[in-house]
Amino acid sequence: MRRIVVALGGNAIIQAGQRGTAEEQQANVDLTCRQLAELVAAGYELIITHGNGPQVGNLLVKNELAREIVPPVPLHWCVAQTQATIGFMIQQSLGAELRQRGIDRVVATLVTRTEVSPDDPAWNDPTKPIGLYYPEERARAIMAETGQVWKPQGTRGWRRVVPSPDPIAIVDRPAIELLLAAGALVVACGGGGIPVVRRPDGRYEGVEAVVDKDLAAALLAHELGADALLILTDVPNVMLHYGTPQARPLERVLASELRRYQVEGHFASGSMGPKVEAALRFVSRGSTRRSIIAALDHARDALEGRAGTHVLPDP
Ligand code: ADP
Ligand code: MG
Repeated sequence: MRRIVVALGGNAIIQAGQRGTAEEQQANVDLTCRQLAELVAAGYELIITHGNGPQVGNLLVKNELAREIVPPVPLHWCVAQTQATIGFMIQQSLGAELRQRGIDRVVATLVTRTEVSPDDPAWNDPTKPIGLYYPEERARAIMAETGQVWKPQGTRGWRRVVPSPDPIAIVDRPAIELLLAAGALVVACGGGGIPVVRRPDGRYEGVEAVVDKDLAAALLAHELGADALLILTDVPNVMLHYGTPQARPLERVLASELRRYQVEGHFASGSMGPKVEAALRFVSRGSTRRSIIAALDHARDALEGRAGTHVLPDP
């Protein structure tokens, strides 16, 4: 059975233009899980991970508005909370889709920690915008009150920025492996995992940061010895010259060639950039692996080589 780590993008849970009500999110997850159930029916072993940007953003707003009434919770708690909620939605939908197909499999969500380094350069340079846009005065007031870092983000206003350190280990990998060995389909490492650092006494401590979900997915796929990393997003291919008349989709590309395009600046940081980096990291660590970046509704075609951008290790 081929083991696949599937990374779901934002559009798998909230579509462009939606407010993201609970009903909307569950309906999107239902559609997503229909795709995933097809993969399970085709015999793939899945580990499912997902983004959580808008969901964490919403929790931060609640923190802010309720500050005087209930104590705000740390950012890494918000990540944990979204892992639970999104995992719950996937358990509901995927379980039902599988039962409909006569497939009897456990779907389990694991609250997952991702280790980051206390020496990561990201700590000195918070770059990842999270949560809502606020006017400058409001942002400055929050900065003064909380010590958070907020930065201007163009015409839409200011946004909180947090460090996004590199994932170095999936702390809860042994638990994922136990679930897989028992035959479960596992939802893990949502939102890149709950960022923790390891203290000298061996304890893990949650930190105010977010881990990129694509980079965490690549590490998870590596640690689990997956055959493929399947990054599902809202475009059918990685493009060269994206957004210009010269735009051209990549279908099959060697890692070294993709690295060259990356250096040439074809992939926007914060969107396609981390996916390409994740794809490269995963294939560079094993000669029989592949990374695939594809549209969510092409999941099965992508795994079978009929859609998406396939990143292959150099021979
Ligand atoms: P997700 O929520 O799935 O992680 P992102 O919005 O972060 O997705 O990234 C996908 C987006 O990346 C696409 O919708 C597209 O607008 C953008 N993008 C930037 N550069 C490229 C590129 N070179 N090829 C394809 N898409 C690109
Ligand atoms: Mg997106």
